[in-house]
Amino acid sequence: MDFSLTREQKDIKKAAREFAGGEFTRERAVEYEINHEFPKKLYKQAGELGFIGLNYPKEIGGEDLGVTENVMVVEEFCKADSGIGMAIHLAYLPAKIVKFFGTPEQHKKFLQPMIQGDYISAVSFTEPDHGSDITCMATTMDEKEDRFIINGTKIFTTNAGYADFFIILCQDDQEAKRGKGMSTVLVERDPSTWLGGELEINEIPNKMGLRMTSSGELVFKDLEVPRENLLGEKGRGLMNILDFLDESRIEIAAQSLGNAEGAFLLALNHAKGRVQFGKPIIRFQGIGHKLARMWSQLQSIKWLTYQSAWLCDHESRNMSNAVPLFTSMVKHHVPETAKSIIDDAITVFGGYGYFLEQDVERRYRDNRIAEMYEGTVEVQLNNMIRILAKLNPDFINASLL
Ligand SMILES: Cc1cc2nc3c(=O)[nH]c(=O)nc-3n(C[C@H](O)[C@H](O)[C@H](O)COP(=O)(O)OP(=O)(O)OC[C@H]3O[C@@H](n4cnc5c(N)ncnc54)[C@H](O)[C@@H]3O)c2cc1C
Repeated sequence: MDFSLTREQKDIKKAAREFAGGEFTRERAVEYEINHEFPKKLYKQAGELGFIGLNYPKEIGGEDLGVTENVMVVEEFCKADSGIGMAIHLAYLPAKIVKFFGTPEQHKKFLQPMIQGDYISAVSFTEPDHGSDITCMATTMDEKEDRFIINGTKIFTTNAGYADFFIILCQDDQEAKRGKGMSTVLVERDPSTWLGGELEINEIPNKMGLRMTSSGELVFKDLEVPRENLLGEKGRGLMNILDFLDESRIEIAAQSLGNAEGAFLLALNHAKGRVQFGKPIIRFQGIGHKLARMWSQLQSIKWLTYQSAWLCDHESRNMSNAVPLFTSMVKHHVPETAKSIIDDAITVFGGYGYFLEQDVERRYRDNRIAEMYEGTVEVQLNNMIRILAKLNPDFINASLL
């Protein structure tokens, strides 16, 4: 067993820490937060420095590295600032679906400009009546000659207001059994690429955190897109999304890991400097124990997240059943534990922790969504018990425990 990072991983982590430490300043973050603005300039810089393309193919300008390296970058970005880190990550994360299932032409058209920090991607599966349950969609996709016609409404699409392209999960066969008859299709923001119809994008205002992203409703009215916009095989849409979630949920966990690490560092620093009753508050056992426990929790979620990413990158046929188990485990356990760590950081800050100025309240608000999007905590626990119930106890004993 070897827990050490490779030379390359250490360099990537250091480069991400230095970039985010230098550029994700508190002043910038507060400005983006208050103006509800996406950090476009920083996204572009992240692209130019190679952070967006790490996990994308070399042929289109990426580095062909794994989920593990992506996780380390997301961790460092969110450690520096939860709002900026999450906004940047969420702008390129959805495009993983194009990487997995796109044609070489789609890679070149959509991924290449994104890797350079020019394009923002978005994914829309959630609908008003289909949230946790995405085994069928009300948004339909009809095939007609050289085009697909889309009708329906999507909600809560992250970066709807900024995205250059959307990956839409549609029902292409309304008679199909649950889980079947769905396809993923690419829709560009630019109306000149449509062959007819309309796409209305409405911002959903006033969300708790994640304020540097837009959250939107997409209304498709007979929107016609060319046939070549089909992403992956027709009828395999739900499987495309589930394959994506296996990896992306680990990266969402990395958001929470970074959010909590940042909150811990702020709290530790505050506890050393804040004097009450004649001594630094870190010397009061109630505060000291809290910080010690936060450290232990951080180490546990860090190695769990790294291990899950590693498993994803080294998936053998023997372990392929275990990846969704680990994915769902980190997707519920890391955000929940991070919530508790950040909450404790607020306690260490006392009344100051309740204000935007100290950053920890924003981290708490930003982090809360990691328990919900890409499948809620309850959905992850359902997935886990479904898998555990099917796995052979001998395999669990020999391979996982
Ligand atoms: C800020 C934000 C950004 C988002 N970004 C995106 C995006 O980019 N793209 C996208 O497609 N979607 C996005 N979503 C949607 C998100 O994935 C859904 O909100 C989430 O999956 C839950 O669906 P729901 O809100 O309809 O809740 P519901 O499904 O109505 O669930 C309500 C409650 O019931 C529980 N519940 C539901 N079913 C079960 C069950 N079987 N067992 C136990 N408990 C259950 C849930 O856990 C939850 O606590 C985003 C949401 C938010 C708030």
